[in-house]
Amino acid sequence: MATGWGSLLQDEQQLEELARQAVDRALAEGVLLRTSQEPSSSDVVSYAPFTLFPSLVPSALLEQAYAVQMDFNLLVDAVSQNAAFLEQTLSSTIKRDNFTAHLFDIHKQVLKEGIAQTVFLGLNRSDYMFQRNADGSATLKQIEINTISASFGGLASRTPAVHRHVLNVLGKTKEAAKILSNNPSKGLAMGIAKAWELYGSANARVLLIAQEKERNIFDQRAIENELLARNIHVIRRKFEDVSEKGSLDQDRRLFMDGQEVAVVYFRDGYMPSHYSLQNWGARLLLERSCAVKCPDIATQLAGTKKVQQELSRSGMLEVLLPGQPEAVARLRATFAGLYSLDMGEEGDQAITEAIAAPSCFVLKPQREGGGNNLYGEEMVQALERLKDSEERASYILMEKIEPEPFGNCLLRPGSPARVVQCISELGIFGVYVRQGKTLVMNKHVGHLLRTKAIEHADGGVAAGVAVLDNPYPV
Ligand code: ADP
Ligand code: MG
Repeated sequence: MATGWGSLLQDEQQLEELARQAVDRALAEGVLLRTSQEPSSSDVVSYAPFTLFPSLVPSALLEQAYAVQMDFNLLVDAVSQNAAFLEQTLSSTIKRDNFTAHLFDIHKQVLKEGIAQTVFLGLNRSDYMFQRNADGSATLKQIEINTISASFGGLASRTPAVHRHVLNVLGKTKEAAKILSNNPSKGLAMGIAKAWELYGSANARVLLIAQEKERNIFDQRAIENELLARNIHVIRRKFEDVSEKGSLDQDRRLFMDGQEVAVVYFRDGYMPSHYSLQNWGARLLLERSCAVKCPDIATQLAGTKKVQQELSRSGMLEVLLPGQPEAVARLRATFAGLYSLDMGEEGDQAITEAIAAPSCFVLKPQREGGGNNLYGEEMVQALERLKDSEERASYILMEKIEPEPFGNCLLRPGSPARVVQCISELGIFGVYVRQGKTLVMNKHVGHLLRTKAIEHADGGVAAGVAVLDNPYPV
């Protein structure tokens, strides 16, 4: 696999000038974040960190990731409808993990009362790394799938123009033309619009559940803007607002400030810190309603790492997607090694192996948002501590993916441009809509490439580690 831009990365003076141009273009295109000092205000904003050059990605792996996305959509949708599978899979985890237990409680309550919602909307992002093989080739391996608040579809629509600009400045017009156009926010909005339409109430709103401190607001606005262009109005509210001003009528229609809500789009609610007792109450109210939740609570649970691990068990995909051997084969080809830490022999063995070869494994709790996984010596210490406790069932072990590093230059507000050895993570956005038992939309709608310096084990742009990038197909 060819790895880079070679001599361009060595000319410091040229890099500095290119970086200035790239940053100005990024600002002009709207590749923006609010600052960490002022996360609730758009008075002062800056650019979202990004790579100076697009990173080389084998076309075949890009195509493979796109081709398997509709299968992942089907799989998530199947898991979310399979209450027995969710119950069995999460039973050991929820004994020891309060957050997952709370989500599961709501899921059970909704099932008991009967699900009022008839239209289901999934907006997800499946993330991959490129495992380096001995012969120099690379294999696509899934890191995880995000079924709630999958972000950066808006900003990823704007970064291709920045990388084309950089290459055009260098006179590399042919290379610039190879950068793929990308518009996930449009596709995500299309899914929301379809769900809104099927809900079938002309004046109903889309309710975006937002955080008070939201640095990534421009990413969300990109979707809001696409919806408004279709004459669908979005209201942004916090969980606290839902507690105070949200209500259900006798048909469990959801109203917010007196306005009917067709679709609830969560950009909050995926971490324990997002929930006070009051916010859990608000989530339950939303889940009980007949509004289309994106995601509904079962689909959020389908995105847990424990579910990911159980799906990799031999025979499991065949049960969940009966009669679809080709989809099963495409899905399985992307699975890395995943190991249960439930009490018992299988878990004991996984722990022994991870302690013996810490660089080959990652220890993952049931968390989202970056910065929660344990690697290396920290992982070993945690495993030693957890070994004899049932708490270990709230974690999973995963094979550590080792991509081939390459050079790129990372640009961040307030830091000098830095040429470093990097690895990338590719995300593909998927959208599906189901009405009752009928799937009415199943699509892939774009990609996100994030790149980070190799010294960071964990990732995430919001976590301050990875930066936005574009694949340069080779
Ligand atoms: P989160 O829900 O916090 O995003 P992830 O499973 O995506 O959790 O892990 C966070 C980051 O950790 C990823 O973006 C990636 O950089 C790194 N990571 C996770 N799993 C692996 C793995 N199996 N091999 C290598 N790196 C990993
Ligand atoms: Mg992730």
